[in-house]
Amino acid sequence: MCGIVGYVGKQNAVAIILEGLKRLEYRGYDSAGVCVEKGRKLDVVKKTGRVDRLAKEVAKSRLSGTTGIGHTRWATHGGVTDANAHPHVSSDGRFALIHNGVIENYAQMKKFLLGKGYTFKSETDTEVLCNLIAYHYAKEPKRAKGPSRFVESVRKTLRHVEGTYGIAVLCVDFPGEIVGARKASPLILGVGDQEYILASDASALVSRTQNVVYLKDGEIAHLTPKAFSISTLDQDDVSPVVDTITWSVSDAEKGAHAHFMEKEIFEQPTALENAMRGRFSADGSTAQFGGLNITPGEFREIERFMFCACGTAWHACLVTEHLIERFARIPVEVDYASEFRYRNSPLHPRTLFFVMSQSGETIDTLAALREAKRKGYRVMAVNNVVGSSIAREADGGIYQHVGPEVGVASTKAFTSQLLIGAMIALYLARMRDMSFSDGVEYVEALKGAPDLVRHALKQAPRIREIARKYAGYHDMLFLGRLSLFPLALEGALKLKEISYIHAEGYPAAEMKHGPIALISEKCPAVFFAPKSEIFSKIVSSMQEIKARKGPIIAIATEGVELPKGVADDVIPIPDCHEAVLPIVAAIPVQLLSYYIAVERGCDVDKPRNLAKSVTVE
Ligand code: GLU
Repeated sequence: MCGIVGYVGKQNAVAIILEGLKRLEYRGYDSAGVCVEKGRKLDVVKKTGRVDRLAKEVAKSRLSGTTGIGHTRWATHGGVTDANAHPHVSSDGRFALIHNGVIENYAQMKKFLLGKGYTFKSETDTEVLCNLIAYHYAKEPKRAKGPSRFVESVRKTLRHVEGTYGIAVLCVDFPGEIVGARKASPLILGVGDQEYILASDASALVSRTQNVVYLKDGEIAHLTPKAFSISTLDQDDVSPVVDTITWSVSDAEKGAHAHFMEKEIFEQPTALENAMRGRFSADGSTAQFGGLNITPGEFREIERFMFCACGTAWHACLVTEHLIERFARIPVEVDYASEFRYRNSPLHPRTLFFVMSQSGETIDTLAALREAKRKGYRVMAVNNVVGSSIAREADGGIYQHVGPEVGVASTKAFTSQLLIGAMIALYLARMRDMSFSDGVEYVEALKGAPDLVRHALKQAPRIREIARKYAGYHDMLFLGRLSLFPLALEGALKLKEISYIHAEGYPAAEMKHGPIALISEKCPAVFFAPKSEIFSKIVSSMQEIKARKGPIIAIATEGVELPKGVADDVIPIPDCHEAVLPIVAAIPVQLLSYYIAVERGCDVDKPRNLAKSVTVE
């Protein structure tokens, strides 16, 4: 969840770490801290609040050095206090450590260490790791040759740990060195020009190097000013594979936009173009994917699909379910990854799994993937971050290719997941009953999606006006049917997460079975009312709300008349193919929630209590 940066090299580590933390702030931002090692001393500055606040403290304390570590925290154990902020220093003063994740057996280890005379300044699970390293170090023999005593004490410690971690450690006896390790939390090693950077996310190091090594679970990296080496918890050496990041630092900056979320909303036409590039067959009648590692014959054997995801990606799975069942006529089940992993649901033997996660690090989704594999199922991944844990552990997958998404509220990652879901449905349908000409029509429709999204984005000024009108409400309903029911869920989620207005998403016709009780002039409803065979049913649901004085914002197909007086405000969307409709319909709800949050003065890119990729359970 949090952000980690470590630097070893010749430059001023503090500036590089602070810049990295700033870029990682979207991953957790309740407190931040830095530690530099200088002249066999560990200097720590840490503070609750944002990285800017830390930067001021750091400037006051004149921290400097060429080796250091820094952290932005998203608290799991212990409140948001200066003492609980990372880095933590062992009670003997020898080690400093930053940690992303949760140490599940910290209580028993803490008891053990207290018995050995180690002391604790924080309530965190993390500080236990730090003291345990010090404990093993004290027992470790000094040696002139062979594995370093520093690395060995980290290795021994990690063998006792249950839970998840991405860590970076400094030791006063090993100036200019960092030891890092990971299990289920992401950690990347940037290989620069006479410098190495450890980070939990590529955006923290891409301004210094595009050459990276994606560390795997159970690997330990040892960085010195001149070299790095990687080994496993079992002491096996690992030959590193250096990959190149394909995006640059400008992709991770917001440019002229007020917020990353705004930038990413307006980037969607290009993002969709990137997500579909090269993914249509030469005859233009179906989709093709390079990395699924499954033959068409094997695909034909599949009788069911199971999709697992969390949050917004779960909504994208629900839309995909609708499209696969509608066009390919194969049953699909969708489950929350966090539920699936513990539910032990009976599964049809010929099921193919898909997991969706923008970051590819969502811990519940990763756990669902592992559970499915443990049961012997093949698992495909839809994910945006190349080299992520989920991408590596899946049997095959489809990258979203939309560049880094920094805004905590997902936008371009969501619509690209919808697009990929629509392409999967097409691919499966063309293997079964969809005709060549229907396939061509579907492909043409998908190719036209970026332009339709451009068109839908032109409503931004009107949506801003509407947002002004509704920003003061405390409750809102989002209602949609069929493939737009998940969009109603997504609209409600977007509004909740960035503007803190209570909102619920419902299938429009379900409203009368409960939520209609909420309706009054104080509870507006956002209705998806596109042209469809059930348009008149949707209009009836709108009338039911109007009869109870509920204000209505309708998202309706351009040129389709709504009965007079049924909607207070109308946001038009272009007419389009069924497979593209959810993508186009996402635009007005993204803009509406964005502008409402801006109106309310909310911190759009860093909503309270939330972090971008949830790497803790
Ligand atoms: N469990 C640690 C804490 O609460 C680390 C949380 C994080 O990943 O930021 O401090």
